[in-house]
Formats: sequence, structure tokens, C-alpha cells
Amino acid sequence: MNDCLFCKINRKQIPSSIAYEDEKLFAFHDINPQAPVHILIVPKIHIAKIYDTNQSHSSLLAHMIFIANKLAQEKEIDQGGYRLVLNCNADGGQSVDHIHLHLLGGRVMKWPPG
Ligand code: AMP
Ligand code: ZN
Repeated sequence: MNDCLFCKINRKQIPSSIAYEDEKLFAFHDINPQAPVHILIVPKIHIAKIYDTNQSHSSLLAHMIFIANKLAQEKEIDQGGYRLVLNCNADGGQSVDHIHLHLLGGRVMKWPPG
């Protein structure tokens, strides 16, 4: 997907503040952070929506969560707590059509979310 923002970040055509990278995914600091820690965990393959995933993506989706946990530990928000968010489609608040897991922490989260 040539015109996808997160594919462009993956190809380093758009700069980002990288927090983690391996062969399957990368993670970078959100440009408009909603908490002291706000990192996006993004698969390198283009998948537009979480609704588009299936059993074949199981290990990739699990890997996203494990890397979020690792980053939470590195950022020292693991004991205080953190939130993982996957937005899907317009009502879910998705603005970039390439799946990404939000890691949010460093402050007390409200419930229900807005
Ligand atoms: P969502 O609304 O769930 O699709 O999340 C998309 C996120 O991407 C938002 O939190 C944006 O602030 C973030 N974002 C958009 N453009 C960039 C960028 N160039 N670098 C880092 N984060 C971005
Ligand atoms: Zn993409």
C-alpha cells in the first residue's frame, strides 16, 4: 500500500520516533500523545482493520501484545498499569487504516473511554 501512512513510516519515507523494531513489527511514539507514554505497535504487513484479521494472524496479534508488555516494562509503567487500545472503523475512532495497537500509560485512565 504505497499511500498508507504507516507503510510509509515502515519504509522510513516518513520519520518517526522508533521505540522498537523486529522482522514482524515496529513501534513508535505517537505524534499526538494522549498520555505520558503513548506508543503505537504496528505490524509491517498492511492490514487495514482489526476486523480484517483471522486465525492466520494469531501469532502476529499475540506478538503485538507481548511487545506492548515489554515496552510497558521498559517505560516503567507495568506496575502502575497501562491500557492497550485497538480502534476499528469510524465509530471506534480509527483514523489510520493500518492496524496499530496503542500503548497508553503514565497517568490514571478514565472509564468508560470517550
Ligand atoms: P487511530 O485514531 O486509532 O487510527 O490512531 C492513529 C494514531 O496515529 C493517532 O493517535 C495519531 O496521533 C497517530 N499518528 C498519526 N500520524 C502519525 C505520525 N506521522 N507519527 C506518529 N503518530 C502518528
Ligand atoms: Zn499500511
